[in-house]
Amino acid sequence: MSIQSFIPPQRTLMGPGPSDVSQRVLSALARPTIGHLDPNFIAMMDEVKQLLQYAFQTSNSNTMAISAPGSAGMEACFVNLITPEDTVVVCRNGVFGERMVENVKRIGAKLVIADSPWGRAVDPQILEDTLKNNPQANFVAFVHAETSTGARSDAKTLCDIAKRHQCLTIVDAVTSLGGIELRVDDWGIDAIYSGSQKCLSCVPGISPISFSEQASEVIRNRTLPVQSWFLDQSLVMGYWSGEGKRAYHHTAPVNSLYALHESLLMLQQEGLENAWTRHQKQHKALATGFARLGLDFIVPEAERLPQLNSVYIPKGIDDANVRQFLLQEYNLEIGAGLGQYAGKAWRIGLMGFTARSENVVLCLSALENALAKFS
Ligand SMILES: *Cc1c(COP(=O)(O)O)cnc(C)c1O
Repeated sequence: MSIQSFIPPQRTLMGPGPSDVSQRVLSALARPTIGHLDPNFIAMMDEVKQLLQYAFQTSNSNTMAISAPGSAGMEACFVNLITPEDTVVVCRNGVFGERMVENVKRIGAKLVIADSPWGRAVDPQILEDTLKNNPQANFVAFVHAETSTGARSDAKTLCDIAKRHQCLTIVDAVTSLGGIELRVDDWGIDAIYSGSQKCLSCVPGISPISFSEQASEVIRNRTLPVQSWFLDQSLVMGYWSGEGKRAYHHTAPVNSLYALHESLLMLQQEGLENAWTRHQKQHKALATGFARLGLDFIVPEAERLPQLNSVYIPKGIDDANVRQFLLQEYNLEIGAGLGQYAGKAWRIGLMGFTARSENVVLCLSALENALAKFS
């Protein structure tokens, strides 16, 4: 065997996630592993919870980090809240809305799909009409930041509509948390999930989630057991409930949680609003450069996510050639199109630690060279 240690190349990650992980977070990851029931570790988990409450802008006590990627956070929200008796309206405007549909189907609940066009925000009027036509609906689910297209939906308005129709809300904030305004309590979000590797710029594999008091009540009152043992919140909550009360459920990814703690601390030290402003500022700089290069955005300006910029690939330019060139010549990763936009768009991420001026400059000059070379 000639297998040697794996030394990854030093890339700049400007795709749809993972984003660049700072040295500070990487250093946290490399600290000594301790037991997951060690009192020092339990104290750190309590701080992770507090920092997550800040990031989500919530006082929900049922706030924690699932030991698995964003997709598991999605699944945790759906399987804990929904039973076959429920009717769920899923607002679908991209790939991640489609995954919500898939979750509801597998639970066997009644599914109502409210479609909005890809590349656009979820249309509040479409949700309103769908709820009027389906008065039995008791849940509304939507994606705040649709990473497949770069569209930003108005979460506050969608939650208001859902509340007026007595529905609980399930919100995908995998790409929005830390990148754009998000206020779980003020907006009345009942269940929310995110991911460590997007605007938090932590290593992949952890999913922050939070449930409102009302949603926690629904979970407590379930008679049908949650079909997933691992994601059953009534069990996981016992594991996250602090010193003295803590019951073994599974072994937490100890070092990854050090990294999450550090990345959330960085967010708190920067200030949430400052982080949102930084993403917007870097997005503006990138958009100005794209206009100069003749690259057109898919999403109308008012509905764009600063942290995920999707642009049409110019006619006659080969998608794969450009992305390979950027990777080889510039160690720069950008994202390919997804779903309806496969082969037709690039997705350029400015998430978390990646959202810095030096990366905007690198991306624009590398793309300029690539376009000149391959046109
Ligand atoms: C990345 C992403 C997910 C899935 O997260 P994973 O960590 O890849 O499982 C879900 N929803 C949205 C909007 C995403 O961008």
